[in-house]
Amino acid sequence: MNYYSLHHKSPKTNFKNAVIEGLAKDRGIYFPEKITPLPKNFIDNITNYSNHEIAFEVIKQFVGDEIPPTALKEIISKTLSFDFPIVEIENNIASLELFHGPTMAFKDVGAKFMAECLAYFNNDKETEITVLVATSGDTGGAVANGFLEAKGIKVVILYPSGKVSNIQEKQLTTLGKNITAIEVNGVFDDCQEMVKTAFLDEDISRKLTSANSINIARWLPQMFYFFFAYKTLKKKNKELVFSVPSGNFGNICAGVLAQKLGLPIKHFIAATNINDTVPNYLQKGQYQPKPSKATISNAMDVGNPSNFIRIEELFQNNIETLKKVFSSFSFSDEETTKTMETVYKKTGYIAEPHGAVGYLGLKKHQLKDTEFGVFLETAHPVKFLDIVEKTLPIKVPIPPQIKKILHKEKVAIQINEYKELKAYLQNNQP
Ligand SMILES: *Cc1c(COP(=O)(O)O)cnc(C)c1O
Repeated sequence: MNYYSLHHKSPKTNFKNAVIEGLAKDRGIYFPEKITPLPKNFIDNITNYSNHEIAFEVIKQFVGDEIPPTALKEIISKTLSFDFPIVEIENNIASLELFHGPTMAFKDVGAKFMAECLAYFNNDKETEITVLVATSGDTGGAVANGFLEAKGIKVVILYPSGKVSNIQEKQLTTLGKNITAIEVNGVFDDCQEMVKTAFLDEDISRKLTSANSINIARWLPQMFYFFFAYKTLKKKNKELVFSVPSGNFGNICAGVLAQKLGLPIKHFIAATNINDTVPNYLQKGQYQPKPSKATISNAMDVGNPSNFIRIEELFQNNIETLKKVFSSFSFSDEETTKTMETVYKKTGYIAEPHGAVGYLGLKKHQLKDTEFGVFLETAHPVKFLDIVEKTLPIKVPIPPQIKKILHKEKVAIQINEYKELKAYLQNNQP
């Protein structure tokens, strides 16, 4: 399968190169050249398939013959090592829980799939490559876990000192082996800037790759759980509406792609916090990216969502057709905490801030009787412990995945500036 750059200035490339490069040379993100709907027969009989079989059917056209079926099936089974439960919390509304993986956020799926694809492509090589990534919290943990012990791959994660939660820091800094954490004396933007500089630095860039959310191997497998949700909810005989808490819009874009493959989804809601570039665009017709603002749903603090351009491409850049199946609403922190409270009081369900924003999206949409609403719960409440315990009259039990790492010792290299990162990479590249 070939991919083209959405800046249209780089040549087409295959799945393998698109995964290794991440971003095209012209700085555009990659998009599949051809999207073939799945056989109707498969969708109609989806309840007869296991999750692993569904994932294989869904992803195989995007990989093409570059990974043989047996290897691809193995990658899928390593990626989908946990459940994606649907929890009905009130009449016609359910939470799709994506947080039962090793780091308890949905990014586990994309990170693991990408790690396994890279490891497969790197298998025959002597030389190592280094995955360099900056994180504001969730991405780092998922990438560290996904790439742990991946053959021939070294991972270097930059995070801002004192700006990630205790649990997130433990997830980044305690794994060891091929994972190195670098604690930057600065904020997330400083980390991001250092990563960008490294990619432009010819002394070291040759053996570097990124595990950024725009990578097709992180984006595409996110289609899986929309199919799993459909499989579970098919018996309801209702039209499905998905509300996706959105930051970089990768997750919701995968949902839209699933719909293009023939999955019967009636409507999408991209629910955002006050970082409202997309809701504004749909309302006013002008796309105006802005610097991000800090909120309590901080994994969605994105002012210029990098995947939105893929959604536009899926609709041939026709905003009117897009608006028929896609809405976007923005919510404040006050609305978010109030919703966490009312949902807990009314249903007993503990939503963390991102899930609560998703729930708000469904409410704003006003479901019809013929519709069934699903909001994506993208992280376990424990990952946003402070805000959850401050808002709700509860103590969140610590799940085993997290308990396991809390007593482990943090190991990180402290740096202040780019030249220290460069020296580290030069001394540690083969
Ligand atoms: C990354 C993340 C999001 C946003 O997902 P996008 O694909 O960037 O829109 C939402 N919630 C949580 C918990 C996340 O970690």
